[in-house]
Amino acid sequence: VTLGDRPDERLCQARNTYKVKLVPGHMLPTLEVMRAKAEEMLQQKKEDAFYVFDLGDVVGKYEKWLRLIPRVQPFYAVKCNPSPLVVKLLAHLGAGFDCASQAEIDLVLAMGVAPSHIVFANPCKQNSFIHFANSKGVEMMTFDNEAELQKIKEAFPRCRLLLRILPKSGFKTHSELGNKYGCHLEDVPHLLLKAQQLQLNVIGISFNVGSGVLEPEAYSAAITMAAKAFDMAKELGFSFHLLDIGGGFLGSSGEEEHFERTAKVVNEALQKYFPPERNIRLIAEPGTYFVASAFTLAVNVIGKRVESRDTPDQQNHMVESCNKTFRYFLNDGVFGSFLIFAFLRTVKLTAEPLHAQTNPKKYKCSLWGPTCAGIDLIFDQVDLPEMKVGDYLCVRNMGYYTTTMYNGFNGMPMPEVFPYCAEDIW
Ligand code: PLP
Repeated sequence: VTLGDRPDERLCQARNTYKVKLVPGHMLPTLEVMRAKAEEMLQQKKEDAFYVFDLGDVVGKYEKWLRLIPRVQPFYAVKCNPSPLVVKLLAHLGAGFDCASQAEIDLVLAMGVAPSHIVFANPCKQNSFIHFANSKGVEMMTFDNEAELQKIKEAFPRCRLLLRILPKSGFKTHSELGNKYGCHLEDVPHLLLKAQQLQLNVIGISFNVGSGVLEPEAYSAAITMAAKAFDMAKELGFSFHLLDIGGGFLGSSGEEEHFERTAKVVNEALQKYFPPERNIRLIAEPGTYFVASAFTLAVNVIGKRVESRDTPDQQNHMVESCNKTFRYFLNDGVFGSFLIFAFLRTVKLTAEPLHAQTNPKKYKCSLWGPTCAGIDLIFDQVDLPEMKVGDYLCVRNMGYYTTTMYNGFNGMPMPEVFPYCAEDIW
């Protein structure tokens, strides 16, 4: 792998986007890019944590989506990773965007995206944000309650509304969303009548089956419910023409087959209830799917503690303690990139040494973040070769809900993101 500094204004304003020339036979350039970057860091006497972002990974995901779920236009959920380069890349590829706030709408519009390519998919919006959407012409937004309709009547009466319904629960997910948003199917007629009274324009249904949906059948159950909501709307005189199937698609490396199965289930349910001849526009709000595997984190071992010492035997040879364990202190933690994983308990992350270790023997160890908080424990009981202070660990699949969670607690900095793109994809 060779790294060439080549900022390209057409694609991004990032100063350090590397174009990477691949050596034939190298299928995984990310680690090589990270090693080169880590060396550069250490030469500069810096040992900062950093991300490497593979633009090609997002391009591949986008192409795969178009191939496997061609009828559904993806509206990327910006909350998942609001890196301007992610937004700009997806905008260039033709995606729409799901925004949750004024700031997200602002970011997406600043990338040249048309307001018609945005859905303001937050069922409970601050009033001033609705006024802002109005001033920018972002017309499509979700609701799931009467109070929201009243606010919208005041702030943006000519907007186009999607009623967010609550899908059936009980399917395995990394994180439920139904505990917070979505109206029960039996409340659909009441809310539609209210919208009718207020002369508001409801154009369709949305749902979110959760984040990190492990059972694809959650989508078929929700699509079936959406079809019932469409029928209810028809009886009341509405002619719905849009269905938004939300996010929840897995996107880590190793989960490709799961996505393929999910796509099949989604397509079959759509074919059954929303076949092309019904002329219903279909959109989705995937976040994790597009970015999870594109970002890899490098964290530095900034401190180390041996938990149980080696002892000398009778001949004064050191004997390794059979329960030797290590504590490593890293320069990113639960108050930074790892916050989300304190909530997504079912996600399995792994840390591995960035450079091959001379002694491959593994020891139990715990990995701690850099703040003084006792709860800043990232991983407990993981197996790693013995590491030195100054070594880097790398953690894959760190593109979702990570960079966006930084709060600066203890003054800890956010890792810089270094984007790169393989030459063939460039
Ligand atoms: N849409 C909405 C309204 C959400 O709240 C979320 C996640 O919280 C998403 C889309 C994206 O979900 P995911 O990252 O699981 O695709």
